[in-house]
Amino acid sequence: MDTRRRVYLTFDDGPSANTSKILDVLQEYNVKATFFVVGKTDAVSINNYKRIVAEGHTLGMHSFSHKYNEIYASKEAYIEDLTKLQDYLYEITGVKSHYVRFPGGSSNQVSRVNMQELIQYLNKNEIIYYDWNIASGDADAPNLSTDKIVSNCLSKIEVYNREAMILMHDANDKRTTVEALPMLIEQIQNMDDNVIVPITDETVPVQHVTAKVETATEP
Ligand SMILES: [Zn+2]
Repeated sequence: MDTRRRVYLTFDDGPSANTSKILDVLQEYNVKATFFVVGKTDAVSINNYKRIVAEGHTLGMHSFSHKYNEIYASKEAYIEDLTKLQDYLYEITGVKSHYVRFPGGSSNQVSRVNMQELIQYLNKNEIIYYDWNIASGDADAPNLSTDKIVSNCLSKIEVYNREAMILMHDANDKRTTVEALPMLIEQIQNMDDNVIVPITDETVPVQHVTAKVETATEP
């Protein structure tokens, strides 16, 4: 049995021009990652959705519009947005993604819908949601230094024996994320007992909020 720590590089909010650069780096290191994408219709983005799939990465869903005030206004609005993205990605790539990351995570404090309702919907439809247990910090400040991004990730990895799920972003303004990636990959690979893998059905979900089980005795 493979007892190595499984390290997941996950990218939110793309595709963007930075996605192509990230894909190039991943290709150079022969490392597979996971992309939780938004809905974009330009030619570069369409090419990047296709590259993510063709190059063996996992295509996950984030949100079509990524507008918190719209998707979290009602359960119906959330489902409509997610279904639109799932159908759109299927049309382009032939992959029906069943992985999702909630904008802001399952623990977000923005949603006006009870997240339990959305979680129940996903569970019923066999769509698995993934949060993260390591934040690279690249969303905290514009162009956070590459050293800081790398150290934010490395300082936490050893906390997790099995699954280390790193949150990064591949939006247009995340230049330093791209620049930090080669160093980050090298350092992860230099640590003992690590393997960098994409999310698959075997991945144990990292979830901030899990489904509440309703029982008859509950008041
Ligand atoms: Zn996002």
